[in-house]
Amino acid sequence: MIRASRARPATGRIAFALAACSYAAGLGEAAGQQPVLTVEREDGSSSNVTVSLDRGFAAVGTDVLTDLGWTVVESGGGLTISAAGEIHVAMRLSSPFFRWDGVVLQMTDAPYRAGRRSYVPLQFLSDFLPRRLPGLYDFADESGRLRAGDVALLATGGASAGVTGGGGESGATPTADLAPTVDAEPALDPNSAEAVRLARPSTYDGTRVVVIDAGHGGEDPGSLSQSGIREKDVALAVALRVAEELRGVEDLEIVMIRDDDTFVDVWERGLIATRAKGERPGLFVSIHANSFPARREARGFETYFLSDARTEHERRVSAIENAPMSRNPASRDSETGEDLDFIFRDLTNYDHAHWSEDLAALVQEELDDFHPGPNRGVKQGVLAVLTNALMPSVLIELGYLSNQAEARVLNESDFHDQAAEAIAEAVVRFFERYPPGNGTGAPEPSR
Ligand SMILES: [Zn+2]
Repeated sequence: MIRASRARPATGRIAFALAACSYAAGLGEAAGQQPVLTVEREDGSSSNVTVSLDRGFAAVGTDVLTDLGWTVVESGGGLTISAAGEIHVAMRLSSPFFRWDGVVLQMTDAPYRAGRRSYVPLQFLSDFLPRRLPGLYDFADESGRLRAGDVALLATGGASAGVTGGGGESGATPTADLAPTVDAEPALDPNSAEAVRLARPSTYDGTRVVVIDAGHGGEDPGSLSQSGIREKDVALAVALRVAEELRGVEDLEIVMIRDDDTFVDVWERGLIATRAKGERPGLFVSIHANSFPARREARGFETYFLSDARTEHERRVSAIENAPMSRNPASRDSETGEDLDFIFRDLTNYDHAHWSEDLAALVQEELDDFHPGPNRGVKQGVLAVLTNALMPSVLIELGYLSNQAEARVLNESDFHDQAAEAIAEAVVRFFERYPPGNGTGAPEPSR
């Protein structure tokens, strides 16, 4: 929707760049060409909204939201955006975190006030509205348009607006803020890249633990396909089959973070895994499906491990998966920002990064054997769900629900079986090497 003026050739890319806010700095060269967001309403009318780049990222005045039927109230550094008495979004000026009906989400950049107007990152309209309210909003990156339905329909339940807990779209995690204050990296023994590379087959013969985490669940459906396929269902279907696949493996204990449709806080998942693993060697596998409504052609599978996100894409996916971080709005007060404190805790799982990367590579290799989509490779990001899992851990994005064809595949029972076999195979292969058998710190079995 943002349409960079027609003189600029790569409109689509620029539009995305704006939405993702990463290349905004590069837009300086487009001097004098103010990008514009085109809003198309259901009644056929449309209007152009000026996009501000004053802060180095794309933002629009909150009056755009007012025009779309939202109520915007600013007070004391807070910005409350509500619709039809149904949806309440609480933002704070200068914070990229916000709450959508109590769920903490994260944008790439923060809302701000300039002069007498307040601004929200364009990303709120280009990513979050379409993702959270797919029946009402659609953002076509290529054509640079935001299609907007009548928000009043939410009151009547008219729009299949799917008020979802889908997790925020895009949005880079502000790595500078989230990144742990861990110094460089203890280029030490068993977890160094070198050690992982050289690791001999494991000689450990005690019980190993595999923690299988089906992403999302309960009130958090995760991403949604246009036809309504829910990420949480795909994740659970595959997770249950991974467990089945692994059940016969000797000396392997299987822990499921959830084995039904329940909500588990993202931060809790890693803690549960760490407790369950105890002193034994173990790994953590979190199963997800991706979504990128602004680029519906995107498809394929990728596996993340916990580390600094290096690219905009990685930051975007990290932000999606980090939301919702918590479901308990009542216990936290957004006015004080208290609810955000937990986000800034130290990330302590970096020590396992190389083993996690190794595991991620195995998963990608196995998935590649049958997956119809492209292999998007091993990625890294600051992922909340992996943060507290003190063991090699990965997050698998099995494919894109936002891609119609891939969504159909993700919904197939055959696919669930094959994906599960692939993941199980990767787990078994990983444990053939982990803990390493070269004497560099294989954990003592605790029982
Ligand atoms: Zn997910």
